Amino acid sequence: MCFILCSLVFGLVIGSFLNVCIYRIPEDKSLFFPGSTCPYCGRSIKWYDNIPLISYLILRGRCRFCKGRISPIYPVVEALTGFLFGSLFYYFIILRHEPFYICLIYAGLGCALIICTFVDLKLRIIPNEVTYTGLALAPILSFTFPELHHFQGKLRCFTITENPRIDALAASFLGIVVAGGLIFLTGIVAKAILKREAMGFGDVKLMGMVGGIIGWKLGIVAFFIAPFFGLLMGIPMLILKKANIIPYAPFLSLASLICIYLQDFFISSINSYIDLYNQILVSLISRTTT
Ligand SMILES: [Zn+2]
Repeated sequence: MCFILCSLVFGLVIGSFLNVCIYRIPEDKSLFFPGSTCPYCGRSIKWYDNIPLISYLILRGRCRFCKGRISPIYPVVEALTGFLFGSLFYYFIILRHEPFYICLIYAGLGCALIICTFVDLKLRIIPNEVTYTGLALAPILSFTFPELHHFQGKLRCFTITENPRIDALAASFLGIVVAGGLIFLTGIVAKAILKREAMGFGDVKLMGMVGGIIGWKLGIVAFFIAPFFGLLMGIPMLILKKANIIPYAPFLSLASLICIYLQDFFISSINSYIDLYNQILVSLISRTTT
């Protein structure tokens, strides 16, 4: 219980840093200097006014000096990150007994997805700084921590060679190509039908980054469940705001996180489909040869 609470608090603190990333990465500003200031009066925010969630509640969402309204996005990002860390820790370490670093890698991916989601919601862009970093790190992390794709006793197990590290590296590249490729193809098809740019290349890079960590099977599942969230939330958005571009990163991120938590269910479903097609194929071949 104490560990879950610690990881939750750690998540809140990281969430506070993610807010800085969401605000500063698109503006090409340094993430560490200068310290936080109020966007209205420019006064620097003291540490006791910068405690995740608590400061926002105590100050009732306003600056201590000028009473300027602080965006509710800040506490939302902090709470989401806290929940993400607490739940990942509980699920992967306490329930599934997986190594600590696997939980940490999923948490890192979750942080990248939170930044992309909120930058996309705000500015309709997905920051390259995040996706390129993720795309570069995914194969390196897979090679270093092969349990990410090659976990004996768990369903995520990708085996083509005798060497788990090589297998994990291959699984990561395959995940990048399959998950990113599906979005890329969707963009081409949608552009041909709608006669306008429908899917940004940022989405391709985002999904590539996700696929590199969660592998091709979960990448495919995330690709197929994201549009359902898109429809659920996008249609009211289109009607209410009359916006013609729906940010897609939030739905891809939500779908990817669901795939991480429900990975055994989704991987076993895909495996049973693969088995079924194999059986059909074998019976067809045996019929044609006899
Ligand atoms: Zn102020």
